[in-house]
Amino acid sequence: MDSYNEENIKMYFFENRLKTYEGWPFDEDCKCTPENMAKAGFIHTPSENSPDIAMCFFCLKELEGWEPEDDPEKEHKSHSPSCHFIALKKKVEELTVEEFYRLQKERHKFINNKSCNEAVTKFEEAAKLRRADIIKTAMGEE
Ligand SMILES: [Zn+2]
Repeated sequence: MDSYNEENIKMYFFENRLKTYEGWPFDEDCKCTPENMAKAGFIHTPSENSPDIAMCFFCLKELEGWEPEDDPEKEHKSHSPSCHFIALKKKVEELTVEEFYRLQKERHKFINNKSCNEAVTKFEEAAKLRRADIIKTAMGEE
């Protein structure tokens, strides 16, 4: 996969993150407005039952249950202290190619980690079911 294609780097840009906040429940007179959420690296990833899920495009940390007084930047730092994006001192547009390359490498670690964890969970669930089946069969054959 070409890790520098447009789709892959799209969410590094504030405007693209901001566009995801359709239907976001907090708009005025609060800290977690779409602008502040997008500034803090979050994209809006709602599901049917949870309209207020937001995920950092970089470290993939998902947070829900937002309150109007929650400060997206502070929440991000406290829930995902190892996120390189929220710790950035410069704007993405101001990074050198080398800095961007290093950042992208760190991002891929988060992506790989998450997909590995998901695969392990899936496997463990399947193993549990299979084990229950085996026990059931064994008990039936006694
Ligand atoms: Zn993050």
